[in-house]
Amino acid sequence: MRVARTIEAVRAELAPRRTGRTIGLVPTMGAYHDGHLALFDAARQACDVVVASLFVNPAQFAAADLASYPRDEGRDLELARARGVDVVFAPPVEEIYPPGFQTWVEVEEVSRELEGVHRPGHFRGVATVCLKLFAIVRPDLAFFGQKDAQQVAVVKQLVRDLALELEIRVVPTVRDADGLALSSRNVHLSPAERAVAAALPRALATRSAERARQLLAAQDGLELEYVEEARFDERRILAAAVRVGSTRLIDNVVLEGGLS
Ligand code: AMP
Repeated sequence: MRVARTIEAVRAELAPRRTGRTIGLVPTMGAYHDGHLALFDAARQACDVVVASLFVNPAQFAAADLASYPRDEGRDLELARARGVDVVFAPPVEEIYPPGFQTWVEVEEVSRELEGVHRPGHFRGVATVCLKLFAIVRPDLAFFGQKDAQQVAVVKQLVRDLALELEIRVVPTVRDADGLALSSRNVHLSPAERAVAAALPRALATRSAERARQLLAAQDGLELEYVEEARFDERRILAAAVRVGSTRLIDNVVLEGGLS
């Protein structure tokens, strides 16, 4: 497995492997768990060359959240290597946002509801970094998790609107035994908070916005941001965001249109 730190280096790695081969990109922010590994597996199965990007994108975070985001590059590289990733692109921030950077991508309507209400500017950061990663790696396929359903919708809209030549593949949400969706942020939960957080998947499993809202509103130690139905393309989902202590968690279940 090769690790590239610059745009030039990742392009040099990929140039000789490109002809006649399918390139798959898995964009990540690191702190790997089994959800990330499921994306690597899906990419490994579908593609000849698997590239993972490892970049905690400051443009999609509020400052405090960025500072506390878990990072462990050494462990991540080992996990990626063991899972058969061929190239990890792990640039420093200045490589992606050099001084004078001033071009931003705004996917308008899809970005506004759900997460868009609570994290202004978040999807502008996501769309911009994804487009830049697509331009750098030029993948045939890119893999995203259903866990971040609205992100999938934003990226698919970006690909359609700008006629990008790549296919977006979506991987089902990987969960722990208690139903909690795996997330890099789960490491911040104390054992007591974790027990509280398990109310989130339980509530979504009712598949009813009203019942889920009642359950989450009644749960001590949990602050409900939203629980709402949304439609993204052919998929209808029930999505929610909550805060448990200082940790913000999102999750969703697919009500209609495939995937788990
Ligand atoms: P992140 O590193 O959190 O930005 O996540 C990188 C990719 O992994 C995104 O496409 C996420 O949707 C996906 N992902 C995160 N958690 C899970 C999960 N529990 N199951 C499946 N995919 C996930």
